[in-house]
Amino acid sequence: MWSIFSCLYPARHNPDRLQNYDQYEKTLNLDGLEFPLAVKDIPKFEAQNPTIAIHCIAADSKNKSFSILYLSPRVHQRDHTLTLLLLDDERRSKNHHYVFVKNLSSLIADRSKNKHRSLVCLSCLQVFSSKQVLKKHERCCLVHSSQQVVFPDPEQRKLSFESHRYEHPFDFYFVSDFESILIKKPRRIDECHQHSRNCRFLSASYDVACRISDCTYNLFRTECYRKVFRTNLQ
Ligand SMILES: [Zn+2]
Repeated sequence: MWSIFSCLYPARHNPDRLQNYDQYEKTLNLDGLEFPLAVKDIPKFEAQNPTIAIHCIAADSKNKSFSILYLSPRVHQRDHTLTLLLLDDERRSKNHHYVFVKNLSSLIADRSKNKHRSLVCLSCLQVFSSKQVLKKHERCCLVHSSQQVVFPDPEQRKLSFESHRYEHPFDFYFVSDFESILIKKPRRIDECHQHSRNCRFLSASYDVACRISDCTYNLFRTECYRKVFRTNLQ
């Protein structure tokens, strides 16, 4: 509750002092809600306070990232959208504390190489430098449930081929391709329409794949393709 007040009524001095917010206690409808508020009760809080949309995240130390605990479906429809960071109480493991995130960009952008002000998608926490790009991204992202993007460890982000059973069984093999065009030939009046075109060789290519040495791709355009094949493959 106090974290919400600190957003709605920011204190000029000592924003961590509860006395700054006592006077606003009755501006929120907290009927029937238990505090500290459980994440599952946030929709209830939003239903009773129709100008506020909540976005709640928590630090994920395992992935060195943040996970999204709750994202209001009305995030762009309400007057106030608040991002709250849920922190664990080190002394009492069952206790949690909400903290208002004044600048989500600073919190998240540490993961980005871009040190300038950036914008954050509330659903996947990806960072964007332009409002237009973020808007375009959100159109697709917000239709899905919130998600966490986790990049692999730099040491483990190597792909290796393991399906050796799908390898070609031969030590080397030859692949070739031919292309041709159809050219109209002058027709005699009595000639059938089907025979009015000639097929003319245009280009050929071949590739010799070999286990022992690197293969080279060869493309050539000559009408003497038979001769080129013979010469090159000898
Ligand atoms: Zn997104």
